[in-house]
Amino acid sequence: MIAAAALALGSSAAFAQQAPIDRAAPRQAGVRPAPSTLEGGLWALSDRMEKQIQTSGQVLKDKALEAYVSDLACRLAGAHCTDLRVYILDAPVWNAFMAPNGTMAVYSGLMLRMDDEAELACVIGHESGHFIQNHSLENFMAVKNRSNIAMALGIGAAAAGAPSSAQQVVQLATMASLMRYSRQHEAEADTIGVTKVQGSGLDPRACARVWRNLLAEFEASDQRALRRRASGETGLLDSHPGASVRADALEAAAKSAPDDLDLGRARYRAAIRPHLLDWLRADLRQKDFGAALHFLERRLAEGEDVGVYEFMRGEAYRLRRKEGDLARAAEAYGRAIQAPDAPAEAWREIGYIALRDNDKLRARTMLETYLQRAPNAGDRALVNADIAKLMEHRP
Ligand SMILES: [Zn+2]
Repeated sequence: MIAAAALALGSSAAFAQQAPIDRAAPRQAGVRPAPSTLEGGLWALSDRMEKQIQTSGQVLKDKALEAYVSDLACRLAGAHCTDLRVYILDAPVWNAFMAPNGTMAVYSGLMLRMDDEAELACVIGHESGHFIQNHSLENFMAVKNRSNIAMALGIGAAAAGAPSSAQQVVQLATMASLMRYSRQHEAEADTIGVTKVQGSGLDPRACARVWRNLLAEFEASDQRALRRRASGETGLLDSHPGASVRADALEAAAKSAPDDLDLGRARYRAAIRPHLLDWLRADLRQKDFGAALHFLERRLAEGEDVGVYEFMRGEAYRLRRKEGDLARAAEAYGRAIQAPDAPAEAWREIGYIALRDNDKLRARTMLETYLQRAPNAGDRALVNADIAKLMEHRP
């Protein structure tokens, strides 16, 4: 199938013969385009990208969460349900994308920040809008220099389905360019998204919130050019028009929705809760403390998962190391251990702050509590050695 696609599309001369078309026909549900067509070639390329995703080691291993997000995608995509395959990518990236063959990828960094099921539905509905309207094909038809794309599509035949890493880079760059949508495409996908969210019984007012929350986080960010952080990624964020313009349009589109629609907040939070700590840690490794603290405070204001969020607030201060941050960290850890879901590390960090303050009794108590709460801690030997030292020096 790949060889046939390469035959039809393997040279730029073949592209030049394609009649120029502005709009592609919307996709027919459940139909895979013939390999000899332009669209079939894009699918073959997407298939290779999907294989790369599957073997990348980046796919989150959580069947329950995968099923939850896939079910949501199905509810939104309707007849196109069976065309979609959802992958949750475990990386602190605020993004999602959809390849021409129905591969949908949602990053954990985006899922972490969605307030509820309705917000995630807005993202998925938007991406499925690109898919259903065949925007990638329209993009392809609009590309002026197609030689890179021809090369990417031709590679599969020569390499017999096992492209080298250099070829993979070309293919991924090609996919990226195909998924870099125009404002018109984005606006269209937004409209489809809102309609689908409301159609599935969820509250479409969530869609504007996705962008307002992101904007607020940009404003709190340590990095002025936060957007550019995602420039190596393809999809939702790259080519989108100003977030506030989109939020306004989305708000207007959802205005007449009934008031009693579901947000699916509790369902959503329960689904992501097992990953909360890991995702927050990965997020903090980005070292954008301004954005991280803004997000943590937004969550803490809700009074849920307080042990986890306060612990991470403590971590953000401890790692930021600005004047007064250690005291702020100690306060946050202290609030964390009042909550039933505090990670054991909160006691350890309080212990080491007490040690720095020369409060040896408190340090010892806290470090011992840490080891009781985390019997399999990787740093057990180290912490035990510190406790032993504390006992030697006891007055
Ligand atoms: Zn988009």
